[in-house]
Amino acid sequence: MSILVKIGKMNIMKLKIKQGLRTGGEKVLEQKTIVLPRLDNLTPTMESTALKLMEEAGELAQAIGKLRGLSGERVKMDKETVLSTITKELLDVAQTAVSMMFVLEEQYGVDIQQTLDEHIAKLKRKGYLK
Ligand SMILES: [Mg+2]
Repeated sequence: MSILVKIGKMNIMKLKIKQGLRTGGEKVLEQKTIVLPRLDNLTPTMESTALKLMEEAGELAQAIGKLRGLSGERVKMDKETVLSTITKELLDVAQTAVSMMFVLEEQYGVDIQQTLDEHIAKLKRKGYLK
């Protein structure tokens, strides 16, 4: 379910994937729900959010590269700091993705919920979900 919630002056997008939680010994699908705000001090566009998404994905890759020592540089950060940086960059990616969803909904009339339903169906079809 994708819903737009208003908390004070802040619009937030709550994305929640709810898959028939079953009882009676059947497996329950693990879920993660995150709530991220609609940024109200920016005027994002599809292009600006797409570019920002790539920038943030690059920062995430850079942080992982530091953890793995992929660049050949000596890593000056301790593992805990690198993991914290990775987590922060991952949230930057998620925030930017949510910002782009707001743009698609508000500026292009895209139905995120319908596309989310299709996404879940695709995951099942490909065998990523039982
Ligand atoms: Mg970042």
